[in-house]
Amino acid sequence: MTTPASATRINLLDYDPTAMRELFGERGIEKYRADQITEWIYRRGEYVFGKMNNLPADLRARLVSEFTIDVGEIAQRSVSKDDKSVKLLIKFNDGELVETVMIPRKERRTVCVSSQVGCKFGCVFCASGQAGFARDLKTGEIVAQVLRARDESDTKDVSHIVFMGMGEPFDNYGEVLAAIRRLNDPKAFEIGARKITVSTSGLVPKIESFCEKGMQIELSVSLHGANDEVRSKLMPINRKYPVHDLMQACKEYVDKTGRIVTFEYLLAKGLNASISDAKELAMLLRTVHCKVNLIPLNPIPEFPYERPTYPEILAFQDVLVRNEIPATVRFSRGNEINAACGQLRRMAKGSTTPMPSRKKSA
Ligand code: SAH
Ligand code: SF4
Repeated sequence: MTTPASATRINLLDYDPTAMRELFGERGIEKYRADQITEWIYRRGEYVFGKMNNLPADLRARLVSEFTIDVGEIAQRSVSKDDKSVKLLIKFNDGELVETVMIPRKERRTVCVSSQVGCKFGCVFCASGQAGFARDLKTGEIVAQVLRARDESDTKDVSHIVFMGMGEPFDNYGEVLAAIRRLNDPKAFEIGARKITVSTSGLVPKIESFCEKGMQIELSVSLHGANDEVRSKLMPINRKYPVHDLMQACKEYVDKTGRIVTFEYLLAKGLNASISDAKELAMLLRTVHCKVNLIPLNPIPEFPYERPTYPEILAFQDVLVRNEIPATVRFSRGNEINAACGQLRRMAKGSTTPMPSRKKSA
């Protein structure tokens, strides 16, 4: 098998603007040329060296032979009819696929990025978890998703980032932190830390080290159950880091950063969505400075539960609010384009099974 040429070239998206200057210096290319390329990539959205017309022709030829700006290939693009979200399936040069979504909403243009190809953590309701893990993404591949998604927005810019696509960001900690720095970098995307959200399934030691970084990033924790019995049923990671330990880590995060934690809580009828579940959740969270994001389940074939009804969702939310826990409901967007993370990739790989006709009831 021949190796694709791009695999032997250096991907400049793996380098931040300062490191790119150093790299060029080491290779005898004037450092200011790196600044010009940074400008082309992040300000003008140009990824083809041949079109960078302020670079001399001989340098452009050299760049093509030694480097690449690997934004991947768009293998599939679907636009949601109801809200104009654009979901991309991006193929990298080893053939692996990741999902990225551009969500335009009033003055916001939010990009939902993947941090890994698949996921190791096997949450029973999650398409990425059920499809298994292939590999970590490199920093440049996370950056590539943001560039590709930015190209999809009407205004060609991005205001917010959420690490809520495929994968567990804290299981690919170093590459994700480097990507966050790039998102933040005034020479690159220049997105404020408070507009970047990292969602974790609750890797306690990583939440603890994240506290120490002193970054003003928004932390979201996928909780989904108010006790170990329910949470372990849904999320195998709970057996390693149970609810009590997770709450301690979240409290420490609040104390050290002065920021609040958002808890994501999926609602599946008959599992975790009754009024008594809401009361137990309110009790658990009463001493944590937090807000709750309720997510009605996006059913996948392996987890054929249903969403609660609209009045049931509102009743659940009401219990939290009456207990002074701010709670919003996130009706997942772009349902008709298979918005639950990991579904699009799985269909493209041809391993999806049809939805069962009968759903498990409560
Ligand atoms: N691994 C991280 C981030 C990716 S998942 C995490 O688990 O937090 C992003 C969010 O989507 C998580 O809150 C996850 O629990 C939720 N999610 C995954 N599959 C879902 C589904 N089928 N329906 C609703 N939410 C889902
Ligand atoms: Fe992985 Fe998050 Fe899906 Fe769980 S919900 S399997 S941690 S991506």
